[in-house]
Amino acid sequence: MESLGVLLPVPMNAYLESELARRYKVFRLWESPPERRQDFIRANAAAIRAVVGNSKAGADADTIDALPRLEIVACFSVGLDKVDLAKCRERGIRVTNTPDVLTDDVADLAIGLAIAVLRRLCQADRYVRSGAWLSKGDYKLTTRFSGKTIGIIGLGRIGLAIAKRAEAFGCPISYYSRSEKPNTNYKYYSNLVDLAANCHVLVVACSLTEETYHIVNREVLDALGPKGVLVNIGRGPHVDEPELVAALREGRLGGAGLDVFEQEPYVPEELFGMENVVLVPHVGSGTNETRNAMADLVIGNLEAHVMNKPLLTPVV
Ligand code: NAP
Repeated sequence: MESLGVLLPVPMNAYLESELARRYKVFRLWESPPERRQDFIRANAAAIRAVVGNSKAGADADTIDALPRLEIVACFSVGLDKVDLAKCRERGIRVTNTPDVLTDDVADLAIGLAIAVLRRLCQADRYVRSGAWLSKGDYKLTTRFSGKTIGIIGLGRIGLAIAKRAEAFGCPISYYSRSEKPNTNYKYYSNLVDLAANCHVLVVACSLTEETYHIVNREVLDALGPKGVLVNIGRGPHVDEPELVAALREGRLGGAGLDVFEQEPYVPEELFGMENVVLVPHVGSGTNETRNAMADLVIGNLEAHVMNKPLLTPVV
């Protein structure tokens, strides 16, 4: 049987890449210089029947158009914002992602960021390392996390897992999404500005779509206010970043814990000097356990596709 040709647009998790290479013919796009990549795709289009993408790159309209034999896009991520889903539907191309296996890690990080911002954990760590504890004495007092009202944008798998964790800290939970969820006691807001005005920590946990691009804008940040903290473990473009930086600079927002940024890996330098901000480099699902489980899911989906069996986690 013809081996499945798999295009990788960017370097992948090492375990995933080696498992793919063991089974299939792998085409590594980044190994071609940027100006030669279209030629590379054209030259190998007859063999490429699958794309494996991640949160950095997937399959946009141009890539899909350049691959007439494309059958499946298997994402090494739960977010599908780097895949042109409408085009895949139109062409009958299957799409899979990696839901559930990463939920706990991302939710853990959201809580970790909220606590790190309020208790100034990173700043306090730097205080000890710099010798300031010896020279200047005790560290200043910070703000409690337990009991604070948590507002969640998007009560999906990750949003719910964050809510469950925050409940254990005695935090009242409210949320905003397109529709009220039937099986929770959490307070629903149909208006995001109202949610922001009524919570202390606002966590972004929705999917990135045209509708949710810059969903956290100046009005939302101002509603969250000088005592409020924004945590973003969704995607960078959910937040209007220049507005976020301005709100922090001007003291209109109390703090931010950010895993994702608008132009990764670039982060606004102005944030580097702010002690009420904790910055981590898109590591929400970045544990060995979770990345291996995500890789196994990508392989499982491709294997199911090749064997004409039901896909494990189909989206399209
Ligand atoms: P999910 O179960 O599909 O949840 C997505 C949520 O987004 C749903 O609750 C949905 O609620 C909400 N949503 C969609 N459109 C919306 C809109 N226009 N307004 C308000 N809410 C909207 O997905 P998940 O597994 O929880 O993952 C959520 C996102 O987290 C992913 O899409 C990804 O971008 C991000 N993520 C980040 C990392 C990281 O490393 N930082 C890792 C994994 C995932 P309604 O349908 O009720 O509106």
